[in-house]
Amino acid sequence: LRPRPFEYYAPHTLNEALSLLSLREEAKVLAGGQSLITLMKLRLAAPKALIDINGIADLAYIREANGSINVGALTRHDQLAESRLIRERVSALAEAASVVADQQVRNRGTIGGSLAHADPGADLPTVCTALDARILAASLNDSRSISISDFFLDYFRTALREDEIVKEIQIPIPPPRSGSAYLKFTRGHNDFAVVSVATQLTVDADNLCQGGNIVLGGVAATPLHAKQAESLLRNGKLEANLLSAAAEAAAKGLSPTSDIRASAEYKLHLVEALTRRALETSLGRAKGTA
Ligand SMILES: Cc1cc2nc3c(=O)[nH]c(=O)nc-3n(C[C@H](O)[C@H](O)[C@H](O)COP(=O)(O)OP(=O)(O)OC[C@H]3O[C@@H](n4cnc5c(N)ncnc54)[C@H](O)[C@@H]3O)c2cc1C
Repeated sequence: LRPRPFEYYAPHTLNEALSLLSLREEAKVLAGGQSLITLMKLRLAAPKALIDINGIADLAYIREANGSINVGALTRHDQLAESRLIRERVSALAEAASVVADQQVRNRGTIGGSLAHADPGADLPTVCTALDARILAASLNDSRSISISDFFLDYFRTALREDEIVKEIQIPIPPPRSGSAYLKFTRGHNDFAVVSVATQLTVDADNLCQGGNIVLGGVAATPLHAKQAESLLRNGKLEANLLSAAAEAAAKGLSPTSDIRASAEYKLHLVEALTRRALETSLGRAKGTA
């Protein structure tokens, strides 16, 4: 398995990378290489040029600023999983990063690469959608902030233009009394999700829901908000029967396809079971009891 020949560039600044990207035809950004190199070896991708961004300083960081946690695009999955800031403020993101593949992949794979690749079974797109992240995309003369709800367009397709590089992912810090969780069901160790669920809840002192996101992975071309279930939660009393009703609603109206991982029917069963568990965990974290 050998890729087709390609030109290789290793810029040291983001501007240099952006300028190469705008000048070279059929060029691709190389981050962790965990998806792109495999595709190239299988000849499912044959870029004429690779722009390796690994040598760019200050593209891997996790910082708190202006009410959000800002994560550099080149931050590795393992760094997310180990970050104290992420674990304390948005635990679902650390949880999702810690169950991506195996340690080797987590040491190389990046958050920017995972979002740009937009695999429907991937972990970080689902959790970043539940956390209402924004994507900062840079091009040579411009930069723009894209809401994650506008970012994923289809299987392996995003709103990124060919001349853009993901620079940063911004995750709003949830209000006090919030909790999030990420659960993934796989066929075996280190596999992509059959189904995954990311939830985030905010609860007031009377146990009323002040905000709730339920996002499903592996059941559609892109991460999917379970809208009916989310509206059931809104202003509702967060007790066991409401969480169960929301979990049931999350599976209703879905039409996942049967594939090599599971039948459609089994996926629906997983959606309900994982949603209920993820909501229970989020609620416990919001109240400080889990
Ligand atoms: C064996 C194996 C198992 C895996 N299992 C899982 C799993 O369980 N869950 C999961 O979520 N993922 C899994 N992955 C995928 C892994 O998470 C990858 O790291 C991720 O999909 C891509 O990140 P990367 O940094 O390696 O990107 P690359 O492979 O370098 O790039 C992927 C794509 O994104 C583009 N790109 C990369 N960075 C940027 C950027 N900053 N701006 C614009 N475009 C960019 C590239 O041009 C390319 O098109 C697995 C991979 C392997 C090899």
